[in-house]
Amino acid sequence: MELKIRNLRKEYGNFPALNGVNLDIRSGELIALLGPSGSGKTTLLRAIAGLEMPDGGQIFFGERDASRQSVQQRHVGFVFQHYALFKHMKVLDNIAFGMRYGQGRRKSEAQIRQKVLELLDLVQLNGLEGRYPSQLSGGQRQRVALARALAIEPQVLLLDEPFGALDAQVRKGLRRWLRQIHDETGHTTVFVTHDQEEAMELSDRVAVLHKGGLQQVGTPDEIYDNPATPFVYAFIGDSTSLPVDLRNGEAVFEGRALRISRVDSPDGPGRLHIRPQDVTLTAPSDGVVHGKIIGLRRSGGYRRADISVGVKHDRVEALLPPEQEVSVGDEVGLDFRRYAAFAEDREPPKL
Ligand code: ATP
Repeated sequence: MELKIRNLRKEYGNFPALNGVNLDIRSGELIALLGPSGSGKTTLLRAIAGLEMPDGGQIFFGERDASRQSVQQRHVGFVFQHYALFKHMKVLDNIAFGMRYGQGRRKSEAQIRQKVLELLDLVQLNGLEGRYPSQLSGGQRQRVALARALAIEPQVLLLDEPFGALDAQVRKGLRRWLRQIHDETGHTTVFVTHDQEEAMELSDRVAVLHKGGLQQVGTPDEIYDNPATPFVYAFIGDSTSLPVDLRNGEAVFEGRALRISRVDSPDGPGRLHIRPQDVTLTAPSDGVVHGKIIGLRRSGGYRRADISVGVKHDRVEALLPPEQEVSVGDEVGLDFRRYAAFAEDREPPKL
């Protein structure tokens, strides 16, 4: 099922939680709504579900305008972070709930039981149908919640921070597993996360939200390699930035012109965004920015150097291979393999 979201607006009082969102979600894709706290992710997901009535705009499920339809009419499955299972019901009855009491074709008890057992197999909880939620781990409960959402054979699956409350190790396992389930069932799946690693690892495409607006929609590679806005650059992956003057397609840092790969900004004050792995340290020669190492720390198999740059002591971070011999206090040159320049006051593009 393909979803089209057109100029969707939602205000709480005077506060614009969604300020005209346009987004096309392809049939069968797994798409992440990613953004910091308060960016409007949950509001958007709830509007798709039909739990929140928007103040303007439309939502199409395929060709059907679902904007005014109820949750049941939209036939979506959803899992919210704190969407508790029914405590007094066994796993089997929790999963069967929507099949027994929801809309749609009635199934016999034998068919329902058969379907529940299939779903338990899918979410790898075979044999646990007789347990109560209190007899399950957090990860197992989330999987039951997912099985319950899948049980109604939804056209669209909506997940709000489905693994948010779980510890890092369990989360990682469930992520891989969710991807597998998605590939097996082929549901159009929209999930909310504020965790960029989760979004990048799991999804076909990522929609980045900020202050109720979409900043960029793209594959994880597109978002990472070609961030459309300074916000996306800073939010996805590590980066530091330097103040520069943008002049005739060049970025000038303290009088030194840097060759830059993409300037689509008008002349004026700007910022150069650089990822730590794109900084190479060299001898401080004429053609490069000069700096001084003020800190070194271990980061996995690498070391990170904090470098103070220029007369205003701007900070740049560099990721160094372990064999590179440097010490705190060294004067170095900085060569930037890749970077992006944005005008200081650049507005996000209208998507
Ligand atoms: P989080 O990651 O913290 O869940 P989010 O990106 O999902 O954040 P939303 O829950 O969509 O953000 O909220 C967007 C904005 O709308 C926030 O500033 C929030 O305070 C506000 N908001 C959400 N629900 C309501 C409500 N019922 N009444 C008033 N304001 C609300």
